[in-house]
Amino acid sequence: MTSQTNQPLYAARTPIFPRRVNGFFRRFKWWIMAVTLGIYYLTPWLRWDRGVSLPDQAVLIDLANRRFYFLWIEIWPHEFYFVAGLLIMAGLGLFLFTSALGRVWCGYTCPQTVWTDLFLLVERWIEGDRNARLRLHKATWDVRKWRLRLTKWAVWLMIAVATGGAWVFYFTDAPTLLRDLLSFDSHPAAYITIAILTATTFIFGGFLREQVCIYMCPWPRIQAAMMDPDTITVAYRDWRGEPRGKGNVKNRKAAEAQKAVAEAQAAGAGVARYAGTPYPGKEAQPATPPKLDIANEHGDCIDCMACVNVCPMGIDIRNGQQMECITCALCIDACDDVMARIGKPRGLIDYLALSDEPAERAGAAPKPLWRHILRPRTILYTVMWLLVGVGLLYALFIRSDIELTVSPVRNPTFVVLSDGDVRNIYDVRLRNKAGEERVFRLSLSSDALMRIALEGSDNLNVAVPADTTVLQRVYVTARAGDPAASADSTALRLWVEDVTAQIRASKATTFNGRGAQ
Ligand code: SF4
Ligand code: SF4
Repeated sequence: MTSQTNQPLYAARTPIFPRRVNGFFRRFKWWIMAVTLGIYYLTPWLRWDRGVSLPDQAVLIDLANRRFYFLWIEIWPHEFYFVAGLLIMAGLGLFLFTSALGRVWCGYTCPQTVWTDLFLLVERWIEGDRNARLRLHKATWDVRKWRLRLTKWAVWLMIAVATGGAWVFYFTDAPTLLRDLLSFDSHPAAYITIAILTATTFIFGGFLREQVCIYMCPWPRIQAAMMDPDTITVAYRDWRGEPRGKGNVKNRKAAEAQKAVAEAQAAGAGVARYAGTPYPGKEAQPATPPKLDIANEHGDCIDCMACVNVCPMGIDIRNGQQMECITCALCIDACDDVMARIGKPRGLIDYLALSDEPAERAGAAPKPLWRHILRPRTILYTVMWLLVGVGLLYALFIRSDIELTVSPVRNPTFVVLSDGDVRNIYDVRLRNKAGEERVFRLSLSSDALMRIALEGSDNLNVAVPADTTVLQRVYVTARAGDPAASADSTALRLWVEDVTAQIRASKATTFNGRGAQ
C-alpha cells in the first residue's frame, strides 16, 4: 500500500534577518561591493578621445550603429568573434573558479548578492540589527513602523533607480542622455528600460533576496557538477564541533557522539581536533590541544547559533553541504569570533576541502591549499582559458585600422570586351575604423599583369568617411593574350592603402578568364 502526502511545491517564505558580523570575509566583501558597484555606476562616465567623429565614451554599446567601444578597442559587427571569445573566457573562468573555490561567484560578485548586501546594509541602518528588525517585523503597523518602512523603501527605490539608470548610459553618450532624461526628451525605450530595471532591482534586492538564488537561478544546480571533494568550500568541522552544546552532556545521542570522540582520541586522533586548516593568512593552530574531559566534554561548538543568525540564506551550515549555501563565509567570521571569545582556535567553520576530512580526523595535516587547487580539471580550464585569451589578443594585435572585403560579381563571371580583353567585376567594401576621413588607394598584386579601374572615378583613390564602410565597384581587366585572360582562373590579390598613414590591407580573390567558358 502506498500512502500519498500532499506536499506544496513551494514553501512559504520565512523572512530572514541576518545579523551584522565583523571579520576578514565581511571586510573583503565590503571591498568587493565597493569596487563592483563603483565599476558599474561610474564606467559610462569615463571619457575617451577617439577623434572628431566617434563617441568619446570609453565603454559604449552603440546598438544603432552596431559598434562596441571598449577603451581603445572598437568592435565592428563582423568582429563579433571578439565578444563571443570574451563570453567563452567568462564561462571558462567561472568553471575554473567554481571547481577550485566553489561558489565564489555567488558569494562575492553575483549582482544579486551585491545588491542584496547593499539593501541589507540600508535596512540595518534604518531599522537596526537582527533583533530590532525581528521586533519591528512582529510589531503592529503603527506610526513608527510605517515611518521606518517608508524610509527604507524610499532609499531602496533611489538605489534601484540609480541602478536602472546606470544601465542605459552604457548604450549612448551618458552626459547627453542624462540631459535628455531630465528634460523628458529621451526616447521612450530609455524610460521603459529604466523602469523595468528599477522594478527588478527593487523587488529582487529588497524582497526576494535569497529566493532568487534558491528558486530562480539555475547556476546552483549547474555548478554542483563542477565541484568535487577537492573543491575548497565553506564547511563545518563536525568532528571538532560535535557533540555541540555548553555544560554537561545530557542526552543519549550527544553522549554517544562524545564517546566516539573519546575513542578516537584514545586511538591518537586528539591532535586532529586542532589540525591546521588549508585556509591561509590566519593564525596557526595550537600544536597541543587541550585534554578532553571525557566525563564532561563537548565539542568546540557551543550551539550559540551565531553562524545561523548571520547567514543571508537562513541555513545552518552545521547540517552539512546545502544547495542554498553561497559560500559567502559570513558564518566563518561569526564562528571565528565566537572561538576567539571562548579561547578556542578558529576554523570550526572554514573554507576547506571535504577530501581533507578523513586525514584531519585521523590526526594528519590537511593537504596544502595549492594541491587542492592545482589538479587536472583546474589545469585544463586554465589552459583552455589561456588559449582563447591568447587567440583573442593575437587577433586584436594583427587587425588593421583599415579593412576590405571583396565579393566577385558572378553574373556573369567575366565579360569579353570588343577588343578581346577580359574583364571581371568586384564589389569591394572599404572599411575605415578611424575617427577621421581617410583616402584609400586600391591596387593589385605587383605580379598581376592586369589593369584596375574604379566605377565612377578617374583615379584609384576612394575617400572613406570616419567610422564608415564604403561600397566601391571595381573592374579588373586582363589583356587579350595574357595568361589570365585565357586561363580558367587566376589567383589575384586586391590591396588597399591609406595614402597618408601608409597602412595597407589586402584580400585574396580569383580572376576568371575565358577558360571558364
Ligand atoms: S557560531 Fe560556531 S560555536 Fe556558534 S553555533 Fe555556529 S558553529 Fe557552533
Ligand atoms: S552557510 Fe550561510 S553564511 Fe555560511 S557561507 Fe553559506 S550562505 Fe554564507
